[in-house]
Amino acid sequence: MSRVYNFSAGPAVLPEEVLKEAADEMLDYRGTGMSVMEMSHRSKAFETIIQEAEADLRELMDIPDNYKVLFLQGGASQQFAMIPMNLMKNRVADYIVTGQWAKKAADEAEKYGTVNRIASSADKTFSYIPDCSDLPVSEDADYVYICENNTIYGTKFKELPNTKGKTLVADVSSCFLSEPVDVTKYGVIYGGVQKNIGPAGVVIVIIREDLITEDVLPGTPTMLKYKTHADADSLYNTPPAYGIYICGKVFKWLKKMGGLSAMKEKNEKKAKLLYDFLDESKLFKGTVEKKDRSLMNVPFVTGDKDLDAKFVKEAKEAGLENLKGHRTVGGMRASIYNAMPYEGVEALVAFMKKFEEENA
Ligand SMILES: *Cc1c(COP(=O)(O)O)cnc(C)c1O
Repeated sequence: MSRVYNFSAGPAVLPEEVLKEAADEMLDYRGTGMSVMEMSHRSKAFETIIQEAEADLRELMDIPDNYKVLFLQGGASQQFAMIPMNLMKNRVADYIVTGQWAKKAADEAEKYGTVNRIASSADKTFSYIPDCSDLPVSEDADYVYICENNTIYGTKFKELPNTKGKTLVADVSSCFLSEPVDVTKYGVIYGGVQKNIGPAGVVIVIIREDLITEDVLPGTPTMLKYKTHADADSLYNTPPAYGIYICGKVFKWLKKMGGLSAMKEKNEKKAKLLYDFLDESKLFKGTVEKKDRSLMNVPFVTGDKDLDAKFVKEAKEAGLENLKGHRTVGGMRASIYNAMPYEGVEALVAFMKKFEEENA
């Protein structure tokens, strides 16, 4: 068996240790005689799985008691609607548009109320994060929305926007658990887990309790109310049980690795290796303003479409997979999430050096 270095933006690489453990437990989960896929979500065994997953996540992120942790379905994209449906009491919200995911969220919210796009980096193909220290936050805004790490463009908010007292809502899909966060600065933190945590099918929503109310927009389906899921501890209906089980294993792996501060250090070291090379390369160029560079998603180009295509093809042959950039940016993108080992980035940089020599 040989595994490639998988630089996919998502679904993405998972820790090998976790996959092996899941394989070992596939046919008989800890003496139950069945796999986690086959067991009732009301069983004692699954109850323990979901409770431990939540407890470990709370420990990793230092989540205060007045926040609920919800394990939901529907992808990150379903939150684009759930957030306005549950939070838009005044039917006004402010969005900071730093990429396609934030734009989609803003467009969806517009179905439910007034959306003010108070800042954007669309003028330069989302290659930077706008200054958010003094934005025209709307007086009656129910919340201010950001996409904290822009998976497609490779930018990250290094400082949270000044929301002038308004609730901050953040899509952290592609930077979830990549570094420590101060949960108290947010009203809602959410993300699809398929980027940096687990298999597709689970969305984690961390939400302050006062934002969970019955006072939702008229016509909001039961399944799209945060209250439904909060009241039932994410077991209102059948949850994405197997996905939650794998997320739980990844949380334990992160704890074993030393937690989020240790992950941040590792992620900085990996990203530095690649960014330093991009900065000195005569062939490859990073596409993002340096101060706003993501630790997770690293887009780069040669400036020549044919050469980009050749690079992606030859990299794949060398066991470096999924380096093609998003169609809206072109070029290449290396996603170097928590589970990508340092050796993977070393292999990528070595291959880039060789490619540069051969194609100078
Ligand atoms: C991938 C991604 C999404 C969309 O996720 P789905 O689970 O496919 O809906 C939303 N936001 C960000 C930041 C993403 O990276």
